[in-house]
Amino acid sequence: MAERPYIVGNWKMFGTRAMLSEARAIDRAAQRYMKVEVAVAPPYTLIHAVHKEAEQIGVGAQDCHPGEEGPHTGDINAAMVADAGAKFVILGHSERRQDHGETGDLINAKIESAIEAGLRVILCCGESLETRDAGQAEDFVLGQLRPALEKFEDPADRLTIAYEPIWAIGTGRTATPLDIEAMHKAIRNLLDEVYGAERSADVRILYGGSVKPDNAREILTTPEVGGALVGGASLSAETFLGIVVAASETEDA
Ligand code: PEP
Repeated sequence: MAERPYIVGNWKMFGTRAMLSEARAIDRAAQRYMKVEVAVAPPYTLIHAVHKEAEQIGVGAQDCHPGEEGPHTGDINAAMVADAGAKFVILGHSERRQDHGETGDLINAKIESAIEAGLRVILCCGESLETRDAGQAEDFVLGQLRPALEKFEDPADRLTIAYEPIWAIGTGRTATPLDIEAMHKAIRNLLDEVYGAERSADVRILYGGSVKPDNAREILTTPEVGGALVGGASLSAETFLGIVVAASETEDA
């Protein structure tokens, strides 16, 4: 698979300026693990400050409004997060789909605006426990992805996928390596179908859902796993770096 493993911290709605010391610690340590690409997505309010701290790590946003600037109180668009220093944006996270009723059409519009603003996109997908128990996880996830993939003319530059089963996010439960492998292979087949095998190979598929230092190695050595999207464990430099170290060791193995 192309490229280094990609370990991305999603800080969600956590963090004030007191968190900048964690960002600094992550950044300085990441300089020792160059075989791993490390990034964090802080809340909007910290993007610029983390960007100023970051010598090595990438900085991104957790969402963006799909429109141009205008009368949308409280919203922030792709050009604004890029201006603040974001290089990527997480789109389609299940918490946004659930908390804000985000639809596939809205997410696709956000993808277009992110590409226009020069941002890379981490596109999230994942099924609920009900959907998995009904045996429909794969169809559901591929159905989430299919229309979105058409938005990327140059997927190698722009697209990372994060498979995050909803029931594994913040719950301490992770999918089994076999389930992760099966879903990542299904996503890879879809990427091959849409972009052709050569271009598809440049798109990393991250796993997300309760990744921690003690399960990172097993997850990151699962076939077709190109890294991890990490929520809770990214809020402390120590635990996040434990995952970065595990990723680095998989590269040495
Ligand atoms: C996430 O929300 O992207 C996530 C993976 O969270 P956690 O690691 O806390 O499960």
